[in-house]
Amino acid sequence: MKTAIVTGAARGIGAATAQRLAADGFAVAVVDLDQAASDHVAEGISRAGGQARGFSADVSDAASVDAAVDLIAETLGAPQVLVNNAGVLRDNLLFKMSDSDWDTVVSVHLRGSFLMTRAAQQHMVKAGWGRIVNLSSTSALGNRGQANYSAAKAGLQGFTKTLAVELGPLGITANAVAPGFIQTDMTRTTAERMGLTFDQLIEHQVALIPAKRAGVPEDIAAAVSFFARDESSFVNGQVLYVAGGPHG
Ligand code: NAP
Repeated sequence: MKTAIVTGAARGIGAATAQRLAADGFAVAVVDLDQAASDHVAEGISRAGGQARGFSADVSDAASVDAAVDLIAETLGAPQVLVNNAGVLRDNLLFKMSDSDWDTVVSVHLRGSFLMTRAAQQHMVKAGWGRIVNLSSTSALGNRGQANYSAAKAGLQGFTKTLAVELGPLGITANAVAPGFIQTDMTRTTAERMGLTFDQLIEHQVALIPAKRAGVPEDIAAAVSFFARDESSFVNGQVLYVAGGPHG
């Protein structure tokens, strides 16, 4: 049984992805800031018949990341799949965006994905097989109030393509999933910031989406599941928009 790490897996897209990869037959390391929240998701997976364990780590902190990946390798198995999903928002128009709004978002999404990938790739290289999936966003194409987030999500696309080039010869693929509007706590926070109820934001977004519905975490988990499979080995360095239409 191969081991998969999913970061930010205590809720939302990460939790759905952890559940999906467990159903696909991976032993899943559920990684999030809070140990109890990670354990809660892992216990749910175990109850459903899958194999999972909860781990706590701050993906933006190198020591925390290295310790967590070592512990995962010792207790669950050497990771061969990594899903860089942990994320935060600190939305603001550029003229109001603080240094810390910028640094926090870039640290968690970009630095976090770099640190996790650097720590996990050694196990994939040793095995001669690996799958890295990074969570980008339609915001990479530009989104009002998200200079920090769109820069990080566009940066992740370049990061993904470079990983594909460097690690491809070693049996490792790297791809990105770029979700559109997905119903999670993250988009619920966006509604609050905009002074809307969550239902109002959903209605507004659905009007713009060709598929005429909001996305759910399982939509993204299904795309990640494809990239994690053995049969996707010739798909490398791609960005898949999962947004109910050609773009956000
Ligand atoms: P979410 O519900 O806010 O969940 C994000 C998770 O990441 C939370 O459990 C959070 O923990 C964790 N996290 C935050 N900082 C972390 C850190 N430093 N180390 C470890 N874990 C950390 O978000 P989501 O909507 O599921 O989004 C998941 C990913 O998809 C993100 O990368 C997001 O940018 C991307 N995405 C989402 C959408 C959407 O519409 N929802 C669209 C495009 C892209 P805490 O709860 O403790 O903060």
